Amino acid sequence: MDSFNMDAALANRWGFAASETSHCDELPTSTTHCAAGTATLLVSSSKASEETARIQRQRHGLDLMADHRAWGREKATPERPLSFDEDIFGTTGWCEFNYPVTRGVRVLGPSRFVKFNDFASLRAVLETSADLPSNVIPTVATEARMLNVAPRARFLDTIAHYQHRPTAFVFADKDHPLETYVRLAGIRQLLDTHPRVLLPYVEPLVASDALAHGAEWVGIGASSARRFPKRPGDKGGGPVSKGYLPGLFLRDYLEFRSPEVYAEWFANSASPVCGRCSRALDLFSTSPTDKAAIVRHNIHAMHEFLTALMEQPAADRAAWLNGVRVEALDRHLVLAQRGGAIRTGETLRLLLELDDPQMRRLSPAGIWS
Ligand SMILES: [Zn+2]
Repeated sequence: MDSFNMDAALANRWGFAASETSHCDELPTSTTHCAAGTATLLVSSSKASEETARIQRQRHGLDLMADHRAWGREKATPERPLSFDEDIFGTTGWCEFNYPVTRGVRVLGPSRFVKFNDFASLRAVLETSADLPSNVIPTVATEARMLNVAPRARFLDTIAHYQHRPTAFVFADKDHPLETYVRLAGIRQLLDTHPRVLLPYVEPLVASDALAHGAEWVGIGASSARRFPKRPGDKGGGPVSKGYLPGLFLRDYLEFRSPEVYAEWFANSASPVCGRCSRALDLFSTSPTDKAAIVRHNIHAMHEFLTALMEQPAADRAAWLNGVRVEALDRHLVLAQRGGAIRTGETLRLLLELDDPQMRRLSPAGIWS
């Protein structure tokens, strides 16, 4: 069997995770973006095999990754850590049939979800994943709580035995899995101790922080469902409200809010404008066209943000990024002075606190105390 050149494939440092099930055209939009540039397309869907095959026929040379999301449906046990184990040739047979190495598509290992503190299943996932074909990325999907202070050392110790291959980590929770101080600190410690980390489902603030601290690859969700992974059994976001608009990435503020929120923030200021989209960023209708325009803007804006980060020398990236976050916070304060009830994004505040040499706390309004 040909061996897959994982190092060459990982030359892209980030990608976009999208599914054909989205209502905002995220898969075609992400495909077009990734085909034109230097980003990987991660197709995240139980139909990923068919979808990647279809995309491969149309877009030759696009760097493709697939994830069947077994971790979102099934819980691991020490006896049954991987999905598709009932396939006639086992999980390895399933991988070889759907993703022959010659196809040139990487696939996240079909790991089942590791429950909190279930270190026996975690070891079983890593042990069995080590034997999968070379184009399969061993994947650990678990509770974001594993990054909390109490279980973290044991978690890092357990995975430390499996450093010879790049490993993807999916941290899930009911809601905003990484939005606490200790979990963001835990991601940095993971990057510090594990040499080849991929984080396939994160939001741009976490993605940029991870890249600045040495992540091999990050995948940014094209929509919120793929930026904030849920555990098996966690309910979705509920019915979509009538006035629902997807979150929009506002790079100067490092925020990801609905344009309706921005409309309030900028009520007494000039609207933020995107030169590339040629439009104001606080004025969108709920039409499918406008929702797709938001996703399109997000992808190019996130791509440009990460490009600017990676253009810095590797040793300077973390400091550069903290400087960008400090500037974003200052812009919030300027808006607040003009009378807006501005709440600084939670992840932005936590990352600023992590980097504060005096270990101060930030109020929701963005004031140091
Ligand atoms: Zn734009």
